[in-house]
Amino acid sequence: MYPIEQIRGAFPILHTQVHKHPLIYLDNAATTQKPQCVLDAIQEAYSTSNANVHRGVHYLSQRATDLHEGARRRVARFIHAPSDEEVIFTRGATEAINLVAFCFGEAFVRSGDEIVISTMEHHANIVPWQMLCQRKGAQLRVVRVNESGELDLDHYASLLSERTKIVAISHASNVLGTINPVKQIIAQAHERGIPVLLDGAQAIAHSRVDVQELDVDFYAFSSHKIYGPTGIGVLYGKRELLEAMPPYMGGGEMIAKVTFEHTTYNVLPFKYEAGTPDYIGTYALSRALDFVEEIGLEAIAQHEAELLSYASGRLLSEFEGSYILGQAEHKSAIMSFGIGEIHPFDLGTLLDQLGVAIRTGHHCAEPLLDRYGHTAIARASWGMYNTREEVDRFFDALHRVVGML
Ligand code: PMP
Repeated sequence: MYPIEQIRGAFPILHTQVHKHPLIYLDNAATTQKPQCVLDAIQEAYSTSNANVHRGVHYLSQRATDLHEGARRRVARFIHAPSDEEVIFTRGATEAINLVAFCFGEAFVRSGDEIVISTMEHHANIVPWQMLCQRKGAQLRVVRVNESGELDLDHYASLLSERTKIVAISHASNVLGTINPVKQIIAQAHERGIPVLLDGAQAIAHSRVDVQELDVDFYAFSSHKIYGPTGIGVLYGKRELLEAMPPYMGGGEMIAKVTFEHTTYNVLPFKYEAGTPDYIGTYALSRALDFVEEIGLEAIAQHEAELLSYASGRLLSEFEGSYILGQAEHKSAIMSFGIGEIHPFDLGTLLDQLGVAIRTGHHCAEPLLDRYGHTAIARASWGMYNTREEVDRFFDALHRVVGML
């Protein structure tokens, strides 16, 4: 039995009343709520173990360092990284992708080279590559998506060539929900010796990620999408690539020896972590991962899949003119939808009046919305704590709102 009561009890914010209605939080793809153990971890770490990490010989500094480096080992175990030295802490998935676009670009990308991304990318996995292309005179090549929101794999294969320097693709789409066949995508790139970065922002909280099994070269995700604090992200990278690339930012922590004439850089992972890290946040993230593993990612994924399938069925059968953007066979718990000509912003605003939080807009994926002829869309996205009753209340609210409009 899925322990839904125990899970909901662990998230204080779920008891919020919104405009005199109980909150129904269906904006989990944007960010997830935090369980009490994560909130406690922040309080506990600041209360008992706050001092700057790594350089201190004193008690508190060593405690803080233990928590921070313990968190790195926790993350490594969570994604099955071969070594915690291949786990770099960043501010989020965005910074992790920018790091690779910049450092990999400096090391390996020249004029005339190509970078392969896809139509379904979040701006965070488009713009850094575009900036790289501008710096180096390289070109972006973009894999098409079909009507149901799946990547066109023939097109993908046809884009790979000796000019391709890296493939950067989302593991799961934040609009379509599509879970891409990333193992196959990686294997095909590797046949040509091309490394692959996966944007795991939307996959990490909804499926088990094993970087060794995937044989992925870089994997990026954000803590706040997996019930951890904001401001922390993770970049996993294969050691040989991380060692071959130059550092990202300069400063403390990332150096071995500094003189005015010459600086040598620190070993992995510190080479990529200039400045004081958010060691309280990394510790809190490690507690979020403990929480998720206690429930079990497979159980969470199955629970969310049931909610998605129930909600998708109800939408299409109960509302004339309704549609779902993204009907891939393998989907994570995201339903981007529209009803006739109703503007998504109106839907979102009126649903909020009834306590239901959904997201509306372009979802930082403008080229994807262009592809389907939209400028904005409504999106409901589920997390581990949502219930079937909440789906029912969401639909009660949706009927009222559509009646008003
Ligand atoms: N990629 C995808 C697919 C996302 O959904 C998001 C967050 N919406 C990001 C990247 C960026 O994550 P962050 O803003 O936490 O850096």
